[in-house]
Amino acid sequence: MHVPVSERSDMKMSACSRCRMTKRVGSREKTARQKGRYMAIRLEHVSHIYNEGTPMERVALNDVSLEINDGEFIGLVGHTGSGKSTLIQHLDGLLRATSGKIYYNDEDIYREHYPMRELRGKVGLVFQYPEHQLFEADIFTDVCFGPKNLKLSKEEIESRAKEALEAVGMDESYYRRSPFELSGGQKRRVAIAGVLAMKPEVLVLDEPTAGLDPKGREEILQEIRSLNEEQGITIVLVSHSMEDVARYAKRMIVMNKGSVMFDGTPAEVFAHHRYELEDIGLGVPQVTRVMESLEKAGIPVKTGAITLDEAETEIARVFGLN
Ligand code: ADP
Ligand code: MG
Repeated sequence: MHVPVSERSDMKMSACSRCRMTKRVGSREKTARQKGRYMAIRLEHVSHIYNEGTPMERVALNDVSLEINDGEFIGLVGHTGSGKSTLIQHLDGLLRATSGKIYYNDEDIYREHYPMRELRGKVGLVFQYPEHQLFEADIFTDVCFGPKNLKLSKEEIESRAKEALEAVGMDESYYRRSPFELSGGQKRRVAIAGVLAMKPEVLVLDEPTAGLDPKGREEILQEIRSLNEEQGITIVLVSHSMEDVARYAKRMIVMNKGSVMFDGTPAEVFAHHRYELEDIGLGVPQVTRVMESLEKAGIPVKTGAITLDEAETEIARVFGLN
């Protein structure tokens, strides 16, 4: 069961507009899911302590409450050690909160007999350096691994693997090649396909572009964007790059020392929390700084651009080029 976010006090949406949408598509749930107004995952006061009660005790998450809505594209940022990887491993139940609650589609995942295996299929986690987990002799077999464990028919397994490989831009010529022959970016795309073949509703990626060259980064980010826009998959992207988050994410969650520090659109967070971000070693996209320098130098540009495209448009406007 999904809980409509529109019933929450902080989102204003009239009942009649909801009815209209319902009529048009005929299924209220489907419509709302497409519109991204249902909560997929809710964390309430989640804390995680590693090695509790030992001299190695470490509070990695400290009272985190947040909601992830269907259809969102979230950029999760924070300094190394801020708790990002720990947080995302709670989303599919891989790590269990020391205290607090987690709901998936309004169901308490810590209740007795909760189908945790199903949750792992619905919330797909792509780990950092996922290519280390490629192990089958060829790419196609590797991507089939996840759906095979779901005990699906051979046809279904293969059609899912094909679809997943297509979604990451790998055609049939790759199917029978060894994963070890591929470039870094290609390996990573195969690993992402392996998770996609499980048909997740939420795809969580831990630094999927780490260590790739600019072209490889861009390709992966574009593919992730199209999974979000075309297939409606909810995305949580852990990233070190403010540039990437500014360009791709619609919502940005900033973690610091195990807590959520800021949560808003990238433009809002960069505009209002610039100095706090710098204090925790994050800062704003480089292009934002460039625009501020231009303004300081007397060029009447509006500051606040967070992507190269926005800056280009603004500079062109000032110089009468568009
Ligand atoms: P991030 O992904 O933002 O770098 P992590 O979630 O990996 O942060 O780490 C948060 C904190 O938890 C850090 O202090 C880290 O040292 C600690 N930590 C992470 N994983 C473990 C683990 N398996 N055992 C003990 N401590 C851990
Ligand atoms: Mg990490």
